Amino acid sequence: MESVTLPPIHEDRSALDLAAIRADFPGLNQLVHGKPLVFLDSAASAQKPRAVIDALSDAYTKNYANVHRGVHTLSQNATTAYENARAVGARFLGASSADEMVFVRGATEAINLVAQSFLAPRLTAGDEVLVTRMEHHSNIVPWQMVCEALGARVVPAPIDDHGALDLDAFEQRLGPRTKMVSVVHVSNALGTVNPVAEIVRMARERGIPTMIDGAQAAPHTAIDVQALGCDFYTISGHKVFGPTGIGLLYGRRERLADMAPYQGGGEMIQSVSFEGSSWAPPPSRFEAGTPHIVGAIGLGAALEYVSAIGLDRIAAHEHDLLHYAEERLSTLPQVRLIGTAPGKAAVVSFVVEGIHAHDIGTILDAEGVAVRAGHHCAQPAIEHFGLAATARASFALYNTRSEVDGLVDAIGGALEIFGV
Ligand code: PLP
Repeated sequence: MESVTLPPIHEDRSALDLAAIRADFPGLNQLVHGKPLVFLDSAASAQKPRAVIDALSDAYTKNYANVHRGVHTLSQNATTAYENARAVGARFLGASSADEMVFVRGATEAINLVAQSFLAPRLTAGDEVLVTRMEHHSNIVPWQMVCEALGARVVPAPIDDHGALDLDAFEQRLGPRTKMVSVVHVSNALGTVNPVAEIVRMARERGIPTMIDGAQAAPHTAIDVQALGCDFYTISGHKVFGPTGIGLLYGRRERLADMAPYQGGGEMIQSVSFEGSSWAPPPSRFEAGTPHIVGAIGLGAALEYVSAIGLDRIAAHEHDLLHYAEERLSTLPQVRLIGTAPGKAAVVSFVVEGIHAHDIGTILDAEGVAVRAGHHCAQPAIEHFGLAATARASFALYNTRSEVDGLVDAIGGALEIFGV
């Protein structure tokens, strides 16, 4: 924590000092089409605080060298910083040891790794992987690839018309053929927060391994993998204010120890000969080749940054924004919210009667308001509502109520342009 410059905070510990937080994010302070940027696309990728930008710059300018290989000072310093970031990740996720943390490119790579290294050798024809209908494609396709090759199948648990998981239906689908449960913690398309502790409990009672996709949870929710009891959990660096191309996979120690490597190469071996090679212990076993050293250091800085502010306070602020946005949007009868599960996170997917989601995105952009339009890489979830696309405003710790006003005013402008 020493290297992080803490943002000043109000006397009232429950409120965030938004002016100070926004000053930490240089990317927020710009004009788009001559209008002040209103950045409401953090679920796709979040802006970066100065603490992360400085950590990246320092790692490249002061202590850059390859890790784990050199006896020289710079290599040792880089190795210390890289391994320190792993320890920060372990603390952030509540793992019992840094050895349970594997650096990956992001949530996508983590799920592919678990599908290939953990599940594939344990899967036979007729087996099932249970997911939900609200999954991001990255928590569907990697399992399908493994299943299709082995005659197994991916089974989706249904969601209701608020976008909440039908937990009874989920439990009914847990059977002797279920070889893996993999569920999103917070849905990127609907904002639904899944009861992951309950889901893991149901699976564990039946001896079924569990993976949680926490890509959207990490920026908003405190995570404790030991309390959850899951086998695997993943986060993406760029969603939690860190760099792109880096993420973390938590794997329970005994699971990782029982898995063969996903990729071969340097750094992941114990010994190599032409008669055969043996693997290093986890996590090195799963980090073949030169890793994204500087990205990992930047991710460590990002996790320290959000931890220093406090995830509880961040969640309280985002809930305030969510409720304010819902209240203001409810004054526009042409707007329909998609995803209204109780206790949801600050992701507001919506459609506007008579205007295509992409047109909404374009008109809002002209006002400096950045939202996402499309299926959000969650086609089955969006199709559940009979839609091909929604517009999506996603909030982060740096957003303000006046930005919600900016969003609502810009939608009002779109209604006028289209005359609806
Ligand atoms: N899971 C969820 C819920 C996501 O929102 C995303 C990205 O949008 C991913 C997984 C994939 O993350 P990445 O592309 O960083 O690997």
